[in-house]
Amino acid sequence: MEKLTVLTESAKYDVSCASSGIEKRNKGGIGNSTAAGICHTWAADGRCVSLLKTLLTNDCIFDCAYCANRSSNDIKRVSFTAEEIATLVIEFYRRNYIEGLFLSSAIEVSPNATMEKIIQTLKILRNRERFYGYIHVKAIPGADPELIRQAGELADRMSVNIELPTEESLKLLAPQKSPKKLFLPMAQIKKGIDEVKEESGKYKYAPKFVPAGQSTQMIVGATADSDRSILFAAENLYKTFSLKRVYYSAYVPVNAGANLPAIQTAPPLLREHRLYQADWLLRFYKFEANELLSEQEMNFDLDYDPKMNWAFRNLDKFPIEINLADYALLLRIPGVGVQSARRIVHQRKISPIKYEDLKKLGIVMKRARYFIVCGGKYFGEKNLEVEGLKRIMNPKPNYEQLSLFNLTKETSFLSMSMR
Ligand code: SF4
Repeated sequence: MEKLTVLTESAKYDVSCASSGIEKRNKGGIGNSTAAGICHTWAADGRCVSLLKTLLTNDCIFDCAYCANRSSNDIKRVSFTAEEIATLVIEFYRRNYIEGLFLSSAIEVSPNATMEKIIQTLKILRNRERFYGYIHVKAIPGADPELIRQAGELADRMSVNIELPTEESLKLLAPQKSPKKLFLPMAQIKKGIDEVKEESGKYKYAPKFVPAGQSTQMIVGATADSDRSILFAAENLYKTFSLKRVYYSAYVPVNAGANLPAIQTAPPLLREHRLYQADWLLRFYKFEANELLSEQEMNFDLDYDPKMNWAFRNLDKFPIEINLADYALLLRIPGVGVQSARRIVHQRKISPIKYEDLKKLGIVMKRARYFIVCGGKYFGEKNLEVEGLKRIMNPKPNYEQLSLFNLTKETSFLSMSMR
């Protein structure tokens, strides 16, 4: 139990499986699964699955400045055996606590030794226990390509955390890592996925390789890297390695150091949130990173979401006629989402859209009406300049920086977002 407590606690800083690091307040009560390292993610088919999220070990030979498990920290070091993790997974699964496993790890002894232990765990679960639930494992940078291949044949998803967006930042805080070492396993996983895709078109029983794709994580706020630098790195990763997801993790200061933010610095959660919104725009709204941020504007305005900010900078493109704009242009309108843009395109084939129809099509009118024309008529306030629009969209900015792990009733992120 002690190992489980230490290693699941350490794993909460790894967000590359879509789980949240937020703790519930009912310590010792029921319904609080985070204490036992249980988190949630979405499987390839869109189902939400609960996972045992743990490290294999926190005994690391690396000394990344931002990490609680770095070798120079005087902390309790523990490691699971492959057999122990497999037993936990099977027992938790039988009790209906979990449906799968997210297995991350520090680098114990060497990258190859750690990767071999991960594979051993996978083999016990898949081959001996015949466990076919969702499994997400780390690909350890620096491990032999043959080991990455073996893990890829057994896992559903793999991730290599690049953590920092530039080579300079890695040199500063994680000098034992390098872009080359991080990108090699990513490239290998992409190649494996592509090959299997090609083979599955030819053969009925093609082997599987990382069927749920690969992901990564970047830390926000540990270095002076701008949002632009982080978003450009993410865009590059999506394009080069066809990643399924890039996760952003607001830096929680766990160590003191000359190159690190002060230990009292609050995790930049709102900045993390804006990066997730921008990431969404890259993946589903066909925005390019260079449309959202520029050399003149290196960071997101925290008061407005990135799409609204883009609209403020491009007011000359508005208002847009709902009955004429193509799908790509509809997606650029604040208040119009992917679903509502699809509905508009579909509805127009049947009959012209009237202003009264817009709400029924899912458009958020309190945002959209300043940016659209419907049947040639404008329904917003005339002659609005950027400043006027900004006041309307956010009359009293009341965003505040919240604590990630020490939430009270009054300040919890959830209670704020329900207002
Ligand atoms: S390799 Fe991973 S676990 Fe080890 S110090 Fe770096 S970030 Fe932490």
